[in-house]
Amino acid sequence: MSDEFSEICNELAAIAKSFHERGWLLGTSGNLSAVVQPEPLRLAMSPSGVDKGELTAGQLLSIDENARVVSKDGGKPSDESLLHLQIVKERGAGAVLHTHSVWNTILSDLYAPEGGLKIEGYEMLKGLQGVRTHEHSEWLPIIENSQDMPALAESVGQILQKHKPAHGFLLRRHGLYSWGENLAQAKRHIEILEFLLETMGRTLHLRERKL
Ligand SMILES: [Zn+2]
Repeated sequence: MSDEFSEICNELAAIAKSFHERGWLLGTSGNLSAVVQPEPLRLAMSPSGVDKGELTAGQLLSIDENARVVSKDGGKPSDESLLHLQIVKERGAGAVLHTHSVWNTILSDLYAPEGGLKIEGYEMLKGLQGVRTHEHSEWLPIIENSQDMPALAESVGQILQKHKPAHGFLLRRHGLYSWGENLAQAKRHIEILEFLLETMGRTLHLRERKL
């Protein structure tokens, strides 16, 4: 195991723990990855079926561009590895993170008929890479959920090509994906988007009660 792989695995385990504590990765839900080397592609990937509050650096797997495990210990990578690989390919991402929070699940269903969710006018938008003003309008596309991972990966590829400026997308009644040039940026994007989704959800809820 290279020092770089070990370091990335430590970072991924720390992020899993902090996201779990915030209720974004409860039980075995969600998954995390980061590029260890681009050529040939090696991705550090969370394993399938492991509680994200208990995930240790030693459980992370190294996979290739076809989601085949190349680490010595074997193990089974997350079922959603193909989606991570698609995002790495389409966006040149250095890290991909996927959360299952209550608010992203609710809003992914509520706005599915519109095909996405527009987030605009919030100061926190400036935490997204390249955004300089709260006047930014962020479109978060929503993709219908599926257990057919190759088909879902294809849908993700199409959506990413169609919505080039998007910093993330939602899978309906499932969760949020975001990414970054590196793990720090991907983590920041998830934190910003989760904040904005919770803010929008709570606002919708309270607006009905406002006198
Ligand atoms: Zn998921």
